[in-house]
Amino acid sequence: MPLSISYSTLGFTLNQYHQKALGTASYPSIGSNIIYPALGLAGEAGEVADKIKKLWRNKGLFNPKDYPEEDRLALKKELGDVLWYVAACANELGYSLEEVAVGNNEKLADRAARGTIKSEGDDR
Ligand SMILES: [Mg+2]
Repeated sequence: MPLSISYSTLGFTLNQYHQKALGTASYPSIGSNIIYPALGLAGEAGEVADKIKKLWRNKGLFNPKDYPEEDRLALKKELGDVLWYVAACANELGYSLEEVAVGNNEKLADRAARGTIKSEGDDR
């Protein structure tokens, strides 16, 4: 299915981000090695979760609106790291980041239309 949706904010598309991200990729066997970016994705997702856990545990903060600005900025950076590894994984699988995003939007829209958003299972 051709991609016609453009996710452009601030004049920057997902595919533009993807190309820039790939330009900074440096790991063994790029293009035939999904292990490195998959492990990196898990690690960076863990960094996001750990920062949120510590804000909750150490400062009793549950709502991100209550986070200090420096913590919000630190989480923004970690989310960027997650995005970078998502882009690298997509590349290894032969997909653009935009294809991944559009596919996810379509999957969720289909689930919403069928009333299965709150169900379980990957293929519902
Ligand atoms: Mg990080």
